[in-house]
Amino acid sequence: MKLFIPGPVDVREDILKQLSKPLISHRGKEISSLQNNITAKLKIVMGTENDIIISSSSGTGSMEMALRSLTLKKALIISNGSFGDRFYEIAKYNHIDADLHRFFDGEAINSEILDKLLETDQYDTITVTHNETSTSVMNNLEQLSAVWKKYPKILVILDTVSSLGGVKIDVDHYNIDACVSASQKALGLPPGISFISLSQKAIQRMEQVGYKGYYLDLKRVYEMAQSKNQYPSTPTISLMFALDYQLDYILNEEGLENRFNRHLELAKYTRNWGKKYFELLVKDGFQSHTVTTIKNIHNYDMSYLKEELKKSGYLFSEGYGKLKSETFRIAHMADRTLTELKEYLARIEEIWQLS
Ligand SMILES: *Cc1c(COP(=O)(O)O)cnc(C)c1O
Repeated sequence: MKLFIPGPVDVREDILKQLSKPLISHRGKEISSLQNNITAKLKIVMGTENDIIISSSSGTGSMEMALRSLTLKKALIISNGSFGDRFYEIAKYNHIDADLHRFFDGEAINSEILDKLLETDQYDTITVTHNETSTSVMNNLEQLSAVWKKYPKILVILDTVSSLGGVKIDVDHYNIDACVSASQKALGLPPGISFISLSQKAIQRMEQVGYKGYYLDLKRVYEMAQSKNQYPSTPTISLMFALDYQLDYILNEEGLENRFNRHLELAKYTRNWGKKYFELLVKDGFQSHTVTTIKNIHNYDMSYLKEELKKSGYLFSEGYGKLKSETFRIAHMADRTLTELKEYLARIEEIWQLS
């Protein structure tokens, strides 16, 4: 099966082989150097000099870890889709005082409204979803960061789960205090490992925050990562082998710029295809480089399509949540090639007899 869903994604055979390597101790020189190698390479992918911690949890684990350990007074959750909303759920279940500001599905976060919200001086932390996978809106970091840079006391948590590794993020340039990401989207790995970059501001903040949980206490994890290059509990060692291996591939074989360019090329191909036969949910300028949401304006039978695609070895994705019956999503991320994408879209043309 080829996975054209926006995560998890297809993982190359050579990466899967890494998962079957013999295990090593979680206390020892080998694991420390493995961890060190991973964070050094992740820094390049994230565009940061900041420290990075690795969490043996999926992306949501790192979202929870960041929000709970970094909010002192009150958080502002700025959402334009289901993954943005998830931060609000996390706040609720952790008794973190938070307000939700919600833009409509398919809309981008508006920087002027963000400015007005931050001006109220109620918040010490904000969360933003860079690439809203549920709608395929990619928020504009240049515009948004121009706003939050005016409020240096506010910590910025940015979810880059479905963009890191496919799009340039540049954590330091955009003053991102905690960049949260995970393995199973544009990085092209199996799920189960995630990461957070931490600015000096974020490190100071977690010193001040009281109850931070246990497993997801960022301070505990960070301190041990700093002092020993190890983690308080046994990490997902096999995924660390795979991550280390894939980061080498990304940086040294494909090249980061080439990888970003390939993602954009695939995105453009998909957008043109979507505009030729349908309409896109997201307006130009805010479309994601890793996933595209297409409006099923002709009301074609999506369950028939899904079944037929399955017979051809493809996993299809409808829209997310409320958009499920009206839209479908084409993922074009990780190690997907243009040839594979063209074959998939051509198969959809055949099944639905598009012309
Ligand atoms: C997939 C995704 C998540 C959730 O990650 P899990 O690894 O499933 O916990 C969070 N944010 C975004 C933007 C995502 O695409």
